[in-house]
Amino acid sequence: MNPPSLQERFAGSLLGAALGDALGAPYEGGPVEKLAWRLICLPHAGTLRWTDDTQMSMALAESLIARSGVDCDHLAKLWAERMEVLRGYGPSTRRILLAVRAGKPWREASRATFPQGSFGNGAAMRAAPLGLFFHRDPAALEDAAARASLITHAHPLGVEGGVLMARAAASALAPEFAAKPFLESLLAGAKAPEYRTRLEQAAAWLGQPPQAAQVRERLGNSVRAHESVVTALHVFCRHTEDFAAMAEYSISLAGDTDTILSMAGALFGARNGVQALPRELLARLEAREEIERLARRLGDRC
Ligand SMILES: [Mg+2]
Repeated sequence: MNPPSLQERFAGSLLGAALGDALGAPYEGGPVEKLAWRLICLPHAGTLRWTDDTQMSMALAESLIARSGVDCDHLAKLWAERMEVLRGYGPSTRRILLAVRAGKPWREASRATFPQGSFGNGAAMRAAPLGLFFHRDPAALEDAAARASLITHAHPLGVEGGVLMARAAASALAPEFAAKPFLESLLAGAKAPEYRTRLEQAAAWLGQPPQAAQVRERLGNSVRAHESVVTALHVFCRHTEDFAAMAEYSISLAGDTDTILSMAGALFGARNGVQALPRELLARLEAREEIERLARRLGDRC
């Protein structure tokens, strides 16, 4: 089989992220959250319905296309306009975007809940389109990902999570992909010990897969950026060629299942292209054609 074209990889990344998000969503949180998600999905039976991760990623891709890069004012406004609160937005992001919708500048709104800024994984979960758009320019990528992160996740760990995920998406596009150099190059650019230690651990596990309990303990599975971004990298590196196996493994780690699988799905799709995603699942994915169109336009602009 021919290697996937760049366009196929862009489509694979956006669709892989949305698919991962939708497949992980029913398993997220405790019994109350699971029941709530089931009720929300009831009117859409048969459709794989995605959450805030995909809604924010799509708006980010749209904003990148419209502004030829990251324009924080445009981006914050678009996120605020598009937000459907029942998609599962975290309380801090929801509050910030509601304030922006009410007319508050995002710079003021972004620190309203946490004075230091949030270190949730919300900046990372939507960062793949940034990696795709800026994949030819690492310095511009880093700057753009940091600025896009700041709007809702201004804590240094929240920002670094966004930058790390964007860099990972760009690296997954490389024609000669291998897990070891992939993790090593991400480690070389990582700053906080919270990320460095986990990236070292993920690299050490490449030849000897750990138990799920060890992954939860050493890498984490929470909504915090530093306790989920490297987990997603590990999930992807363990199953780089089989989406179904990757999804099953990711969900077995529990915790923030939609976001971890969405990030891993974005990387899987960037590496393997859209044809490597399970066709029968794609056929049931909410707004599949819209996402594909968005990926095509994103590819045309960079
Ligand atoms: Mg979500």
